[in-house]
This record gives sequence, structure tokens and C-alpha cells, in this order.
Amino acid sequence: MNFNKEDFINQIRTAGIVGAGGAGFPAYIKAKSNAEIVILNAAECEPLIKKDQVLFDLYPEEVLDGMRVLMKSVGADKGIIGIKRKHEKLVEKLEKLTNNTDISVFKLGDFYPAGDEFCLVYETTKRVIPPGKIPLDVGCVVNNVETVYNIYLSSKNPVVEKFITVAGCVKKPSTFKLPIGTSYKEAIELCGGFTIKNHVAIDGGPMMGKVVTDFDTPISKTSSAIIVLPENHPLIKKKNQTIAQFLRIGKSACDQCSYCTEFCPRYMLGHPIQPHKAMRSLLFNQSAAKIHEEYSLLCSECSLCSLYSCPEGLNPKEVCVKSKSNLRELKINYKNSSLSSIANDVHPLREYRKVPVKKLIRKLGLCDYDNPAPYMDFDYTPQKVKILLLQHIGVPSRPVVKKGDVVKKGDIIGKTEENELGVPVHSSIDGSVSEVNAKYIEITG
Ligand code: SF4
Ligand code: SF4
Repeated sequence: MNFNKEDFINQIRTAGIVGAGGAGFPAYIKAKSNAEIVILNAAECEPLIKKDQVLFDLYPEEVLDGMRVLMKSVGADKGIIGIKRKHEKLVEKLEKLTNNTDISVFKLGDFYPAGDEFCLVYETTKRVIPPGKIPLDVGCVVNNVETVYNIYLSSKNPVVEKFITVAGCVKKPSTFKLPIGTSYKEAIELCGGFTIKNHVAIDGGPMMGKVVTDFDTPISKTSSAIIVLPENHPLIKKKNQTIAQFLRIGKSACDQCSYCTEFCPRYMLGHPIQPHKAMRSLLFNQSAAKIHEEYSLLCSECSLCSLYSCPEGLNPKEVCVKSKSNLRELKINYKNSSLSSIANDVHPLREYRKVPVKKLIRKLGLCDYDNPAPYMDFDYTPQKVKILLLQHIGVPSRPVVKKGDVVKKGDIIGKTEENELGVPVHSSIDGSVSEVNAKYIEITG
């Protein structure tokens, strides 16, 4: 059958596909581009999350089909699967399926953040994405496993389900798919419930995820994991630090050892980011601080400096986040900063400074929770779902239904205009609309 790029782009936009690895960038934008290589991000480098490896193991041929159609769309003659060597059986399966084809398997080491697009592109192609640029600037398009699986499904089904891992303090840590809009509470109940009383959850991976205390939070297109932990776990305490706390402690305790910089994955790729200099900004007033704050502009917020590198337990990542926000107010971005002409070579010690995930898990105090979370076919339909209107980067969807309307699973219930960055949202169950507000549409089955 003839491939029509425009039809394909409309198809994946209408299906509501966004980056399922957590970023939520609408997939149709990447599919519109032209690139030499499509890289499948199967690195899944955040500790405790298993959903991509589980999905890939269940549907390898479907994911490869999705990858091939994406390669057609962007005109790529090469596809690379970036997956960790440690998933031996899956790697073997993929090598057999891709033998003598235009797709190859690249085996990654078990380090964090192997799935960061900049690291992944460098690992798999040896191309360095220049500071302030994107993978497309070096001829690559990167997509997560589940995003590509959704692309495969898009000719028949819109995005109404999500694969997630539920781990930590639950009776049966598991990986499974659920209708989008199901509550965290129900997901945890499917895993046998909590094993402790005073619990909170991390929405996503332990490194980049946010602390959640409201278990009515609905699962969205970008949910990847629910990690339940005691509310007094050191990782939770660190993540809950207030701005005033980390600024005050950072100002008095940072000894400028620069470990945060020396392990920073983006610094190791030659980018002008130096979190220890951003820490230095805490000692100066606003105009003098600006020069030091600029060293935060290219921070990817991977949290390695705050949760692994700093021997003092300080929070350089949050200082970078705050510095970037201060600079935004002054309308300073990387392109108009004093660092915009700096690009160094890849650090000669990069290979030796990669942080092994096992070591990271120890440092995070998560060894007790580093357990298998096998696939479970719960086939669960909730009685009620809350479909968030903003589950992607861009403009929120606007409701196209009203209270009392009857909807079917897969019906569009909110959408954006053609000329806006965004995708529609769909009902994930059959039922009727029981609430519409600025944040979500509730469907009761
Ligand atoms: S690693 Fe910690 S103490 Fe050392 S420079 Fe960075 S923030 Fe300061
Ligand atoms: S969070 Fe820290 S380690 Fe990660 S990119 Fe930012 S400065 Fe570098």
C-alpha cells in the first residue's frame, strides 16, 4: 500500500499520540520532520521502572512495525534500538527480528541517564547534539518504545490505555496497562494495596518524578510509574525540600568541590553547564548572580547532581531550576547568554564517569524496593475516569462534550485547533460525561 505522509501525520495526531516516556511532546511534530536515523529509546534508565521492557517483550513485532512506519515518514534509511545489554533475552529476540534489516540493536550499559536523548544519541551514533539544539540537528529523531507502539496502533485505536509500573511499598509490584484516567488508588489496589500506613508516591521515576500525596490523581498519557514510599524516606524528604531550605543550606554548605559538575551528563558531553557555578550564584546579589546562574541554562533536570554526586547532600539541580527561572524573568536564554558560543569536546573521562544504576539505587536508599514487577493482565475497567485536558506539551484540549453526553471508548472528548500545538483527548471507557471543568472531563461508566 502507498504511504501518504500527510495522512499518517493526521492519523497519529487524531489518535492523540504524545511522548509516552514522560515528556508528552506531540508525536506528529517529530513525524513531520526529515531525518537520517530513527532511534528507539528503550533505555528505561530510571530505577525501578519496567514498563518499556515489559511492553517491548510483549509486542516486539508491533513496535518494530511502528518504528518502520515512522522511518518512512521522516525518510530515515536507518533505525537504531537503544536498549540496555542487561535485558539479555529481549535483546536476543530483537537481534533475531532485526537481523539483516534496516534496524539495528545498540546495547547500552546500565547507567543513568542512558535514556536522556542527548546521551542516547551520542551512545548510539557518536553524534553530539550541540548545546541548545535537538536530536534533529544531528539528523536523528528519538521516540520512546510506548510512543512507537501507540503509532503502530494508531490506524485502529487512539491512545486510551497506558502501561505503568507500580512499585515500592505495595503487596505485589506489577507492570500493567490501565485505561487513562484511572486513579492511582485503583492502580495500587490492583497490586494488593499498600504495605505501610504513612505512604506517599513518586509519580514517575525516583530521579525525575514528583511526590504525589493525592491518590485520586488520574493516570495520564505520560504516567510511567507509581513508586510508593514511606513519607519519611530520605528521598521523599529531599524532594520535599522547600526553595528557602535548599537555597539557605546551599549558600552555607557548598564548598565548591565541583563533583556536581564533574558527573553532570550534559557537562560530560561538552556543554557549558556547570552546576557548581550555579551554586556560587547563591553568594551574590541579583546582577552579580546572573553570570553564575547562566551555567544552569542547559540543565536537563536529571537530578544526578542532587541525588547522587554532591557529597554534602545539597540540591544543585533545584538551584539550577531556580536560576533558570530567574533568568527567564530577565528574558535570558541560552542563545542570548554569554555562554552561547561555547561548545567543548566530549570529556575524555566520560566513559568512566557514567553512574551505574545499581550504585544509584543504593545511594537513593531504594535497595529494598528493587524487586521484579512482572506483567499482569488485569483487564480492569474502572467505574469512573478523569481525563486530563492537558497531557502533552502545548495547548490544553478544549472539551467538545458536555455533562450528560453519552460517549464510547475512543471518542474524542477534547481537542485543540488545527494551528495549535496539541492533540485531542479521548474517552477511555464507555459511559456518560459526569463532570466537565477546566482541568478534566469525568466519565462514569
Ligand atoms: S557537589 Fe555539592 S558541595 Fe560540591 S560544588 Fe556541587 S553543590 Fe557544592
Ligand atoms: S540536574 Fe544536575 S546533573 Fe542533571 S543536567 Fe542538571 S546540573 Fe547536570
